[in-house]
Amino acid sequence: MSTKPSTEYADVWYCRQAGADVPPRPPLQSRIEADVCVVGGGLAGLTAAHHLASAGRKVALVEARRIGWGASGRNGGFVSPGYSLGYDRIADRVGPDAAKELFRMSVEGMQIVAANIRELGITAAAPCPGILGGVRYDPGRRLMDHRDWLAREFGYEVAHLDRAALAEHLTSPRYHQALHDRNAFHFDPLAYCLGLAGAAQAAGTTIHEATPADRIEGGPGGWTVTTPQGRISAREVLVTTGGYTDRLVPALHRAFLPIATYVMISREAPDLIASAIHTRSAIGDDRRAGDYYRLVDNGKRVLWGGKITTRTSEPRDLGKLLHRTMADTYPQLAGLEIDTVWTGLMSYARHLMPQIGKLPSGLWHCTAFGGHGMNTTAIGGRVIAEAILGQSDRWRAFSPFGLDWTGGYAGMAAVQLTYWRYQAMDAWRERRG
Ligand SMILES: Cc1cc2nc3c(=O)[nH]c(=O)nc-3n(C[C@H](O)[C@H](O)[C@H](O)COP(=O)(O)OP(=O)(O)OC[C@H]3O[C@@H](n4cnc5c(N)ncnc54)[C@H](O)[C@@H]3O)c2cc1C
Repeated sequence: MSTKPSTEYADVWYCRQAGADVPPRPPLQSRIEADVCVVGGGLAGLTAAHHLASAGRKVALVEARRIGWGASGRNGGFVSPGYSLGYDRIADRVGPDAAKELFRMSVEGMQIVAANIRELGITAAAPCPGILGGVRYDPGRRLMDHRDWLAREFGYEVAHLDRAALAEHLTSPRYHQALHDRNAFHFDPLAYCLGLAGAAQAAGTTIHEATPADRIEGGPGGWTVTTPQGRISAREVLVTTGGYTDRLVPALHRAFLPIATYVMISREAPDLIASAIHTRSAIGDDRRAGDYYRLVDNGKRVLWGGKITTRTSEPRDLGKLLHRTMADTYPQLAGLEIDTVWTGLMSYARHLMPQIGKLPSGLWHCTAFGGHGMNTTAIGGRVIAEAILGQSDRWRAFSPFGLDWTGGYAGMAAVQLTYWRYQAMDAWRERRG
């Protein structure tokens, strides 16, 4: 029996959209040289590779499985500002000015994705404007204050929806109010990965799939990355292995927790779905690991995500679990049938912020984007590329968030317990109305 990891895409909706035969790129089978070797073909790696190659650097990217095979090609497709760690906790750690700069960078990340789709002609990514952030309890004036603060501090406009205004978008007894962000958007993330990979390749990047980096060794002239059948000599190496980080770089391995989250897609039922969700904006809520969902396939299906767990194997009743949550929010969708369910791994640091920087050995890393990676991989990949090009040291904005040890199995257990505690608190707040 072979122990080689599968190089097939998981059965996610986006793969079906892309067509069964996304042509594979050949594994590396020789010794090559590059200015920069990128390890990992998710959006952090692809963004950096594209920017570096566009600036004339010779880039080689190795991906253990397929481009976008990890979280980047199987996520909810929400592209919005911010990080997994809330603004106030970021400000507590770095102070108000640095927190503001980090927020602006998170908006820039979202804008980078939008600009890439437009300028590189990645039409298959099908961006659709609008994300509604609902709350399932009465927040009083809190959302309105937040709207005013975003406009005042950042010139970032969002609209406040009260219950009556929200009813024009959703028919659910659960939500009290929402903020509607029409700068944010949702899209097909795998199509974006494949489009960006194509653009990186057109700019000169060599991409090898089914090519895990097995070893990275530093020497006087640079680095050697060893793969099963080849070797890359490079002046710089960037590791972007996300929630699939293995023991390749021990300092990264000990500093992240792989956390699973789930997505399902319904069967076609446009009329039934329209009785519940009558907006083309995507919808999320402010609970810890709350629901995130949106219409796809021209409104014929719902894509619904939610839940997190430290158990990285798939629970058997994944679909039922998500379906129960959906029917709780929209009782009229109780009869909506599920087509496909999948899971993916996110990478979380203890501090919940991305880990972007350089190890003492000189190795670059750009990882731990948590559940907020669509904008943050873009700004992370961009600032690392700028650093390698000698254009900026903006990556240092992330230096306060280092590679703290996550605590191994005890850390995993603590995260799961914290999640259950937050879930109980969210449910209590919701019951109070
Ligand atoms: C189900 C799900 C839903 C989500 N929804 C959203 C959302 O709606 N909005 C949002 O902003 N974020 C969302 N996220 C989070 C977001 O997808 C991630 O934060 C982001 O994609 C991480 O990108 P990455 O490039 O760091 O990692 P990945 O995309 O996971 O890529 C890492 C790659 O590295 C490769 N690799 C690992 N080890 C090696 C090695 N040794 N050699 C070579 N290659 C290797 C892996 O095969 C993998 O392809 C979601 C995540 C999941 C799982």
